[in-house]
Amino acid sequence: MQATTQLLHSIPVDAQTGAIAVPIYQTSTFVQEAPGVNKGFDYSRTNNPTRQELEKIIAQLEKGSVAAAFSSGLAAIDAVIKLLQAGDEILAVNDIYGGAFRLFEKVYKKFGINVTYVDMTDLAAIHRSITLKTKLIWLETPTNPTLKVADIRAIASIAERYKLLFAVDNTFASPVYQQPLSLGADIVVHSATKFIGGHSDVIAGLVIAKDPEIGQQIKFYQNACGAVLGPFDSFLLIRGLETLHLRVQQHTRSATQVAQYLQQHTDVAEVFYPGFGGVVSFRLKKDTEATASTFVQATQLFHLAESLGGVKSLISHPASMTHKSIDPEKRKAAGVSDGLIRLSVGLEDAADLVNDLEDAFQYINETRKKSAHRKPAAGFVPSN
Ligand SMILES: *Cc1c(COP(=O)(O)O)cnc(C)c1O
Repeated sequence: MQATTQLLHSIPVDAQTGAIAVPIYQTSTFVQEAPGVNKGFDYSRTNNPTRQELEKIIAQLEKGSVAAAFSSGLAAIDAVIKLLQAGDEILAVNDIYGGAFRLFEKVYKKFGINVTYVDMTDLAAIHRSITLKTKLIWLETPTNPTLKVADIRAIASIAERYKLLFAVDNTFASPVYQQPLSLGADIVVHSATKFIGGHSDVIAGLVIAKDPEIGQQIKFYQNACGAVLGPFDSFLLIRGLETLHLRVQQHTRSATQVAQYLQQHTDVAEVFYPGFGGVVSFRLKKDTEATASTFVQATQLFHLAESLGGVKSLISHPASMTHKSIDPEKRKAAGVSDGLIRLSVGLEDAADLVNDLEDAFQYINETRKKSAHRKPAAGFVPSN
């Protein structure tokens, strides 16, 4: 059976009522027949029927044994780091999501967990960076915003050799293109805010574990620390998952067209697209903040906003938005120059999206001709 059929039919019809959609159990507590005697639910932080359904579906989709749903992608990452102890070290991908970097450096460092960052496309560098204290390898692939792809299977064998936990942030690929647990990873996390939710209407995170014991530890931290996903948001993710394959395939088709268009454009120096998914980045030949800033404000269909993976196309300027807090030298070394622009290609018609970009290119060229010393426009969305 194909994955999409399997997914749709892993969502059960409600046994009580025959409801074909998963009911939203918007309740905090559950009435007990006698103290400690219940129907499998006692308090919604610990377990909720709607959330449980979501967790079952995503565990199956990612080929894991246990899944836990959190109130954000960062809460999901946080739960994984709680598997570690003071004195442990993390080996993390160098162009890591900014929020994960902040969590590691500003929160966990003060609890005695240190992180080393390495280019995970360089396997020798991974070997070299492992110390006796390393306990966890943290990978994102493809990375943001330059979409570098690492070899999960090869890194998994390194993790196995040194008996390290291996976690993969699978947000950008989605389970449609990549199932890290099948390639040897121990843990997968998602910012379900992106492709899994898919409609830019929910903040959510997921952790999926291969080993049931690790899964139970994650469930323990989910309940003990409490950043659980609510019933309505769980419903939204189930609804998003129902169209995940369809949406992601279309994101890829349109993003491929957009990447091809950019590739041949005379104003573009470099295009970053791994061949799948909805995110395309490109560097302007005129690699300046002023030009990029004008460009990202000139599109009409691509809305200027952070985030990705939704039905509506988004455009962003990493150097002044998502990657603003990174030291400019380090930022440039990671490929995030001032003229780099990131697109999240949505589900509008691809030809309309290409036309929108063409208009923006024409606009920046006219603007440059008309006012050579015009100041860059203000009004960027502050970094989150
Ligand atoms: C957005 C994102 C996160 C954080 O998720 P939130 O839902 O915003 O907390 C983590 N990792 C990646 C790769 C992301 O894109």
